[in-house]
Amino acid sequence: MYNTSNTNLLKWYHENKRDMPWRNTKNPYKIWISEIMLQQTQVNTVIPYYNNWINKFPTIKHATKASEAALLKEWEGLGYYRRCRNFYNATKIVANKYNGIVPADVKSMMSLPGIGEYTAAAILSISFNQRIPVIDANVKRVMARVLKIKRFTVRNKSRIKNVLSSWIHDTQNPGDFNQAMMELGSQICTPQKPKCFTCPITVNCEAYKSANPEKYPAKEIANKIPTYDVSVGIIWDKNRFFIQRREKKMHLGGLWELPGGKLQNNENCKNAVEREIKEECNAGVDVKSRAAFVKHQYSHFKIELTAFHCKLQKGYSIPTTNSSKWITPSEIRSFPFPKATLKIFEQALPC
Ligand code: SF4
Repeated sequence: MYNTSNTNLLKWYHENKRDMPWRNTKNPYKIWISEIMLQQTQVNTVIPYYNNWINKFPTIKHATKASEAALLKEWEGLGYYRRCRNFYNATKIVANKYNGIVPADVKSMMSLPGIGEYTAAAILSISFNQRIPVIDANVKRVMARVLKIKRFTVRNKSRIKNVLSSWIHDTQNPGDFNQAMMELGSQICTPQKPKCFTCPITVNCEAYKSANPEKYPAKEIANKIPTYDVSVGIIWDKNRFFIQRREKKMHLGGLWELPGGKLQNNENCKNAVEREIKEECNAGVDVKSRAAFVKHQYSHFKIELTAFHCKLQKGYSIPTTNSSKWITPSEIRSFPFPKATLKIFEQALPC
């Protein structure tokens, strides 16, 4: 029974798959960067980033030879910057330890920074034709319905993996099989209103037989994420303003930012920016007018960010170092910034 569905699934995939630039290649470097970009990011957002990246760094050698800042600049706006830093470190390891050739075994691949079980399975199946199932959120949902699973307990996760492993074992093209399952989850077996009438694997689906597939898996109650008030300063010295680089180990590490931070208890935005600049730059500033107000959401929290134009008080200076610079607005494009900071620049600075 399964082989019929397997054929149906691949036939459906070849007739319906969306055109994506990384689907025209098996090059492991290109599949790798596409998979890293696609983590927590939608396909339509990734496509222009992927195309620009491949133009600028067409091979692993190009990425390895570039600086981390150059890679981060290309990543700017895509978010989750740790992905980019991990990718950069991993390309260095591939260059030094594997002669610049992406390793084709699970153990070596998963020893690289930023490559977990999912990404390794995707690269190994698509680029190296290995029969390893990819289990992303879409595939999990499809399989929860196929097996009529409500919750992803350890036992149920293992059931999903076993069934997928047996299915992929029977296919000649494991890369296409995995992509077909992900595409099915994304386009047909959607969280709400799955389009079962066009699904190629109805014959295998227990939830379909129950006539209420949406009940599987059970909905998880989302935790409310906190919102933080943050104040930052655009400290001017004639036509230049001050930026600093975040430490690598921090969230958004390696990116540049304006000095500032979270408001403390009973503090207003202006007091916060004065205090933060004193703490971070050892400098006193006069806080002038409000320059911008932006909202931004990260995976685990939101921020409401107020920016102020500031001026150094007499007697203070902030030196230029590797991690602190005075730049003109036209130099913004030379540094990688978090998206929230770019939103501030859009509102506050002349083009
Ligand atoms: S039959 Fe419906 S519920 Fe089952 S896998 Fe297909 S789309 Fe999903």
